[in-house]
Amino acid sequence: MATEHKTKVLILGSGPAGCTAAIYAARASLSPILVHGLQPGGQLTITTDVENYPGFAETIQGPWLMQQMEAQAAHVGTTIIADTIVSVDLSKRPFVAIGDSGDRYVGDTLIIATGAQAKWLGLDSEKQFQGFGVSACATCDGFFFRGKEVAVIGGGNTAVEEALYLTNHATKVTLVHRRDQLRSEKILQQRLFANPKIVVVWDHVADQVLGTAEPPGVTGLRIAHAKTGAKRDLKLDGVFVAIGHTPNTQIFKGQLDMDGEGYLVTRPGTTFTNVPGVFACGDVQDKVYRQAVTAAGTGCMAALDAEKFLAHAALPHAAAAD
Ligand code: FAD
Ligand code: NAP
Repeated sequence: MATEHKTKVLILGSGPAGCTAAIYAARASLSPILVHGLQPGGQLTITTDVENYPGFAETIQGPWLMQQMEAQAAHVGTTIIADTIVSVDLSKRPFVAIGDSGDRYVGDTLIIATGAQAKWLGLDSEKQFQGFGVSACATCDGFFFRGKEVAVIGGGNTAVEEALYLTNHATKVTLVHRRDQLRSEKILQQRLFANPKIVVVWDHVADQVLGTAEPPGVTGLRIAHAKTGAKRDLKLDGVFVAIGHTPNTQIFKGQLDMDGEGYLVTRPGTTFTNVPGVFACGDVQDKVYRQAVTAAGTGCMAALDAEKFLAHAALPHAAAAD
């Protein structure tokens, strides 16, 4: 039977942003409810080594870090529910969200931490080697390719920035682009073309990531000419897919302000959306930094913003207990 869950702070998403918002909201005695979504723990659960999250001198594993964050959120008093929100009504307070389970979530405030997803090429081999040489985040994983050769796929700002960044670690970076012109800004293109470590392969698409099953690892990339279909193999150790990201904002369309790419718009320096009482944090509102630590940082901001909002707004309370 469908259940109604009432809270002062309803948090959607269990990545670094959602978990951090939950930790702060719980410690402010706001008894938050956090709804997991389809990817409990968020994007870090599909990677292996994490070396840039502060506080850990040794390399840690993404899934482990997210288990810890969730355990910490639960420990300080967050109610965590395994459900995915399929629709929301933000037209009045308290806000209402409906779960895939049929359950109804009623929140005096809503913190949206639904993240974003890297776009992937859709190759089976790409999936097979994700975390074992195939990545969608150079800042996160570039360090693992010190002294090695890598390819970057894409022709936008992200691809060019990732290629430039990777030259800090790799000996050679091959940028593979499906057209004969880059989409990225000219200044980035100039830097790209001036960098002796970068080679651009035009008019080619990725056909297959090549690698070994034991130990799992990438050994090359088969590319196909976009016009002739002719194939050839590049010998390399890592493949970075940089063909864009999609924010998880479909359920908010028509209710919250978004930019042209669907990212939620927040008031600069805050997590306020255009609807009072609705806050957004993490990758769902950030297409620039996209890091676990920045997501966690804005998660903290969202909880603090929600706490202040609750203190000042005269609300018809959703939460059963004060
Ligand atoms: P996400 O982690 O994207 O989490 C979103 C959450 O929202 C998920 O729990 C999902 O289930 C939930 N959700 C979505 N829709 C709904 C819904 N309708 N209802 C309820 N819940 C919903 N960053 C680093 O700092 N260091 C790294 O080493 C690093 N490595 C990475 C490796 C990979 C392969 C990838 C893809 C990213 C990596 N990143 C890394 C980036 C980092 O993972 C993200 O910046 C961070 O996870 C963003 O956190 P978030 O909480 O905003 O969103
Ligand atoms: P993007 O601008 O959409 O570019 C995606 C690139 O990937 C394009 O070159 C596209 O090719 C290619 N691509 C898409 N699907 C592909 C596929 N299936 N196979 C092969 N290639 C594919 O995405 P982005 O680079 O992530 O940038 C997103 C937004 O963030 C942009 O607005 C960008 O300006 C902004 N951004 C800004 C900065 C900055 O200001 N420094 C940095 C990063 C991102 P085509 O060109 O042929 O379409």
